[in-house]
Amino acid sequence: MARRNKARKTIALIAHDGKKAEMVAFALSHLNVLERYNLVATNTTGKMLNENTRLKVRQMLSGPLGGDAQIAALVVEGGVAAVVFFVDPLGKHPHDPDIQGLLRICNVHNVPLATNPASATFIISTEAL
Ligand code: PGA
Repeated sequence: MARRNKARKTIALIAHDGKKAEMVAFALSHLNVLERYNLVATNTTGKMLNENTRLKVRQMLSGPLGGDAQIAALVVEGGVAAVVFFVDPLGKHPHDPDIQGLLRICNVHNVPLATNPASATFIISTEAL
């Protein structure tokens, strides 16, 4: 695993299976920005990013095994500058309570949250991040 730079802010990246290709495309389009952050992802999303981009992404557990909950905990602890979570609105997810929990926690703590590539592009383009 890559060494984490504690001075850097963290961006969390998550994509449902139907959206993983879009996540890789998003990451490839914004490599120069994303490289300036510590990156954390749910397991399969992180694996895809590590294998298909030059980014170094910390892989948590897979979403259905609690990865969304792990990322929610990071948000609660104040360590996440933004969450990019490409939700598949057409899919059924056994871990829907965890997904809703992560979305809720971002709103509780006023953490920028993008649930589709168009929104993520706005967030990633801001100087405020
Ligand atoms: P995954 O988890 O990256 O391990 O597929 C994402 C999710 O389904 O929430």
